[in-house]
Amino acid sequence: MFSVLKNLGWFFRREKRRYSLGLFLLIAVGVLELLPPRLLGNAIDEIVRGSVTASSLIKYIGLIVALLLFIYWITYIWMHKLFGGSNLVERLLRSRFMNHLMTMTPSFFERNRTGDLMARATNDIRAVSATVGFGMLTLVDSTVYLTVVLLAMGFLVSWKLTLAAVLPLPLIAIAMVFYGKAIHDRYSLAQDAFGDMNDQVLESVSGVRVIRAYVQERLDEKRFADITEDVYRKNMAVARVDAFFEPTIRFCVGLSYIIGLTYGIYLVFRNQITLGDLISFNMYLGMIVWPMFAIGELINIMQRGGASLERIDETTGTQPDVTDLPNPVDVAAGPNGIELKNVTFRYPSSTIDNLIGINLSLERGQTLGVVGRTGSGKSTLLKQLLHEYPTGSGDILISGVPIQKITLDQLHSWMGYVPQEQILFSKSVRQNIQFGLENAGDDKIMDAITAAAFQNDLGTLSDGLDTLVGERGVSLSGGQKQRVSLSRAFIANPEILILDDALSAVDARTEAQIIENIRQERAGKTTLISTHRLSAVEHADQIVVLDNGHITERGTHEELLELNGWYREQYDRQQIENNLSN
Ligand code: ATP
Ligand code: MG
Repeated sequence: MFSVLKNLGWFFRREKRRYSLGLFLLIAVGVLELLPPRLLGNAIDEIVRGSVTASSLIKYIGLIVALLLFIYWITYIWMHKLFGGSNLVERLLRSRFMNHLMTMTPSFFERNRTGDLMARATNDIRAVSATVGFGMLTLVDSTVYLTVVLLAMGFLVSWKLTLAAVLPLPLIAIAMVFYGKAIHDRYSLAQDAFGDMNDQVLESVSGVRVIRAYVQERLDEKRFADITEDVYRKNMAVARVDAFFEPTIRFCVGLSYIIGLTYGIYLVFRNQITLGDLISFNMYLGMIVWPMFAIGELINIMQRGGASLERIDETTGTQPDVTDLPNPVDVAAGPNGIELKNVTFRYPSSTIDNLIGINLSLERGQTLGVVGRTGSGKSTLLKQLLHEYPTGSGDILISGVPIQKITLDQLHSWMGYVPQEQILFSKSVRQNIQFGLENAGDDKIMDAITAAAFQNDLGTLSDGLDTLVGERGVSLSGGQKQRVSLSRAFIANPEILILDDALSAVDARTEAQIIENIRQERAGKTTLISTHRLSAVEHADQIVVLDNGHITERGTHEELLELNGWYREQYDRQQIENNLSN
């Protein structure tokens, strides 16, 4: 039940001082609060005996007021310490979570949905933060404080009476064990459902245009209604157990009162305790009401925190499937040549081999063209160099070193990658391009923009380089997005540039211009280009044609034309189309 506290041990050890001070003061307040009732009881006994004087009465009142002020001050400090811990653990867990996501490879994101990850990063982390704040408070109040009050009742009033009054306590304990288990299970289900709902919202909002275009609004509303209904039902299941806590405890507290008071009055009549004793005792009874409720709160909050922490740990405990070897080879001289030897590769989620027996060798400075039918494996081949997935069989060598032995940081520092689906961030054009080269000056940025043939488009944007693009900014056309992504890769001036169908959305003339720029700017550096438009790779030193994961044709443009195969057929067809459209 308290495994969540054990699993957060690293946090409590880190915040040892905060928690020892906070908890110490919390307990101190508990002890001090015992005094006013006893003082009041004594005052009443003096009144009953008739020995009370004005000065002793003032003394009692003064003492009680001074105590209250003192308690006010200490309470402020422990509150501040304990609830501050809540915010701290939230921040720590969240940055841990995010850092972990950053080390994860694509296969992780194929398995985990964004909405659910977001639910874990917000909802679940908040539930854990409640355990280290309010949870710790209830922990102390339901254990230490309860014990202290009970001891005070025993020592300061009467043990017989105290024991009688706590008879219902075991009842609470038994009930809490049952409820606690139920809360844990039901709450886990509810959180999972919440993650699903998050995901649905994300998809509907980002796909709203398609949903409208296909008049699927009603269907989407229905889907959403179903999933919110599911979340509702699962949360109601939690609420049904939740609702048992309060009445159970109220009932037991009521029992304590009945037993305590009837038995207390009986003892007063038998002259075993005084009236003042009974009044003090009654006030102490009032003081154990909260600790009894705290037992319920404690169980509830610990179970929720535990379930949430399990969900968070499940994510942060996932090991990346591609990691650096303990003794990597440092290729300080940079990547010299690229060689693929009999590479066969399969995506983790695929049932067939997506690349089969690929042999390739590319010298530094050469350009490779990759063409082939859609789905033939062009992107898959290019991505082999990024080492995003665990390698298949065969060898991928860079400068003669197997790719597994090169650290990911070094590998990626050589690469400029323009993926098939461009990603622009919700930032200005300038900041998007600066992703390639930190703090790049405007002249460098303009060079990259010119190389990507984006300068004319830039003139049409309202704020030039400062125009916001991405989700919140102006919508760029597909071809404009591609060219901003290209600029980002160009400005990095990488050793190896990978363009995965990166010119698919620009017109033929612009493409020719960009290819010409690439040829000039990338002289001496390695470039890999995949494309459907063969004119984009005519100049390549080597072109491979892929089909179903196999290389079926290879050679230069001229050699491939002579082969009279797929390349020739495709080239002729594209020539005719070009002539028709001109
Ligand atoms: P296109 O011209 O449409 O871009 P492509 O030649 O780039 O196609 P790839 O994206 O390399 O094709 O895909 C090759 C095969 O691998 C396809 O059958 C595809 O379904 C499969 N595939 C691609 N990505 C994944 C993935 N992440 N997990 C599983 N299978 C994948
Ligand atoms: Mg592709």
